[in-house]
Amino acid sequence: MSKLDTFHLQVEELKKAGVYRKLPVLYNACSNVIDLNHKEVINMSSNNYLGLANHPRVTEAAIKAIEKYGVGAGSVRTIVGNSDLLESLEELLAEFKQEEAVTCFQSGLNCNIGVIQAITQKGDLIVSDSLNHASIIDGTRLSKADRTVFKHSDMEDLEKVLKEKRKDYQNVLIITDGVFSMDGDLANLPEIVKLAKKYDCLTYVDDAHGSGVLGHSGRGTVDHYGLHGEIDFIIGTLSKAIGVIGGYVASKKIVKEWLLHRARPLLFSTALPPSAIAATIESVKMLMESEEYTKKLWANATYFKHEMKELGFNIGHSQTPITPVMVGDEALTMQFSKALLAEGVFVSGIVFPTVPQGTGRLRVMISASHTKENLDKAILAFKKVGKDLKII
Ligand SMILES: *Cc1c(COP(=O)(O)O)cnc(C)c1O
Repeated sequence: MSKLDTFHLQVEELKKAGVYRKLPVLYNACSNVIDLNHKEVINMSSNNYLGLANHPRVTEAAIKAIEKYGVGAGSVRTIVGNSDLLESLEELLAEFKQEEAVTCFQSGLNCNIGVIQAITQKGDLIVSDSLNHASIIDGTRLSKADRTVFKHSDMEDLEKVLKEKRKDYQNVLIITDGVFSMDGDLANLPEIVKLAKKYDCLTYVDDAHGSGVLGHSGRGTVDHYGLHGEIDFIIGTLSKAIGVIGGYVASKKIVKEWLLHRARPLLFSTALPPSAIAATIESVKMLMESEEYTKKLWANATYFKHEMKELGFNIGHSQTPITPVMVGDEALTMQFSKALLAEGVFVSGIVFPTVPQGTGRLRVMISASHTKENLDKAILAFKKVGKDLKII
């Protein structure tokens, strides 16, 4: 018996359950139409909401930065990895988000892992929405604070938890996604802010799917609700709508000072590459100059969702361009995805453990880069395969 036999058995289980998959290979830039496994398909599965991942202005900024700064930061931020580029990105993001200070990390996941651990300690309690993103769960696991969850977006349950436990702890931190990435629904931030005030708690919103999508020019969920200054920690990612890579927390200056001393990804992992920083600066500038990109995204999303509903698909209760097409059965979900691919449309199937068992779905990610022709072709493919598999 090899020491790795358990993995053989586990992979066999995946195959039996019909959820084993090989990673698709992309042969060109992430755009509306891509070369995936040497087949041209409409891409309906990226987080490239605004089509900025290969926008000429953004790629040019990256190339220029490489010429001046090279390709790697060469060190963690606390040694020589802290460039003037990175400082200007943080200033720009603070202005964009209308918050006092921004601290950048190498990714959204890194940001959650570094920040949650740094801002909580033994004697504190973290109260987390049950559907929060995996990186929040990981960040919470690394913290020395106690943790508990409230039922997804259930404000009565949140209050029940706070009523019961608030008195036993020093600080209490309420954490929620701004936009829930698998269903596309929004957190009830106004109510969370109210409860946080009533029970003297800190608030933490991970707005990975809200940044660049909701609010004026994509300023995020907090802007959408008009809650500037009311949330203690706002997390964003630079890898989704912004189209590059990186994560950040927008908060008070004092938080930034503390993180620069204690957030482990800043102390123990090399800073973002100069090309990524310069590209991000350009993307954010483009958002600040014009609402063209966010408007196109929403127009595409509204059209697609309307057509899918007309066809009789269950598209859940999304309030954003994320469009889940609910299937339920996991193997059928994967079969649906495969059949769409054969029709030239790539939509990845999402099954357990990313979503709860029995809630398999195709998760359509609409982008500003989709043309009407792209959307219409995708809708036709959904109609054909949906009927073949008796989903509609
Ligand atoms: C995608 C996502 C992240 C991770 O962001 P990356 O920049 O891809 O690491 C974190 N939180 C939420 C809610 C996300 O959806």
